[in-house]
Amino acid sequence: MTATRAFAAQSGTTPLAEISIDRREPGPKDVAIDILYCGVCHSDLHTARGEWGGVRFPSVPGHEIVGRVTAVGGEVSKVAAGDLVGVGCLVDSCRTCASCQEDLEQYCEGPHGFQGTYGGWADGSGENTYGGYSAAIIVDEHFVLKVNHGEADLAAVAPLLCAGITTWSPLRHWNVGPGKKVGVVGIGGLGHMGVKLAHALGAHVVAFTTSEAKKQEALDLGADEVVLSKDRGEMKAHTGSFDFILNTVAASHNLDAFTMLLKRDGTMVLVGVPEQPHPSPSVGALIFGRKAIAGSLIGGIAETQEMLDFCAEHGIVSDIEMIRMQEIDAAYDRMLKSDVKYRFVIDMASLK
Ligand code: NAP
Ligand code: ZN
Ligand code: ZN
Repeated sequence: MTATRAFAAQSGTTPLAEISIDRREPGPKDVAIDILYCGVCHSDLHTARGEWGGVRFPSVPGHEIVGRVTAVGGEVSKVAAGDLVGVGCLVDSCRTCASCQEDLEQYCEGPHGFQGTYGGWADGSGENTYGGYSAAIIVDEHFVLKVNHGEADLAAVAPLLCAGITTWSPLRHWNVGPGKKVGVVGIGGLGHMGVKLAHALGAHVVAFTTSEAKKQEALDLGADEVVLSKDRGEMKAHTGSFDFILNTVAASHNLDAFTMLLKRDGTMVLVGVPEQPHPSPSVGALIFGRKAIAGSLIGGIAETQEMLDFCAEHGIVSDIEMIRMQEIDAAYDRMLKSDVKYRFVIDMASLK
């Protein structure tokens, strides 16, 4: 075991503070990574503040990790010491079930499901896992991603590991591309990546925001149109016109306002996981038009690599604001006010 500096929540109501965690010695298939940057996902906040229940404390959040390989086990072939790598939301899965065999590890049907980068083994069958708010991490090579962006972009690459893949996966699964009208609801960490990626895939992109101040910026991110979702008139103008809507909102809200904007056979995918459930959607609004509401969870490892390579090729990174590890609680408070453009990233040098 190696004692490693980290930042942890000890309960849902206390501020995060520095602790020492034990990282395992690298096994034959393990990769040891010095963490350079870690993005701050709203899921970190939901977890650290106990909003989802069942959290294993101490909780060391962080699943948008970029770092440099410091050592590899004897059987590792994917990466070598010195390589720049990423780690996202998953660090293990059964590798044998139907979903794992199809490179959809996030839907692992094994007895323990997939293991999260933090809060893994939630069923108590293994030790708690500790995430990227730490100086270093040891990860099986299967769950390590190769980063091909330039060194100057590394901090802005970190959010691709969750915000990027969580929006990429549904955009790809529902075949978003040229000729499709696509809505992205909530222009936060996930949403701003959804706008960039849907635009790069060639779709006509409409951003939905509750923040007047984000209207011009959403256009700059790549949206073709912006709608202030609180404005009934602006919403009504888009009735029945969307092929697909990606809803990233982190709070409970009225879904009917968006299903009414779908075309016949259109789908709205929910990726936000609010603390309180949404009011029940109107069934009538779905059956008149054979519309669907679906969900989607992050993405598999192969798909995450595909997304990273696509982003490197198209020069896509996240818009970020860098913080020190010690500023995390203030960052959470600002995130709750939708006051982040568009992702906080922790400079892990501040912890070392
Ligand atoms: P975020 O950066 O806080 O962005 C959420 C955005 O939602 C805000 O910027 C805001 O955008 C909008 N919003 C917030 N409160 C709202 C309200 N009451 N009504 C309407 N809109 C509101 O959060 P994030 O990191 O993108 O995460 C979003 C959600 O996705 C979280 O619940 C997170 O846990 C979840 N998540 C899910 C997955 C998955 O695999 N499914 C993966 C990662 C995260 P505007 O200012 O533009 O309105
Ligand atoms: Zn996340
Ligand atoms: Zn599996």
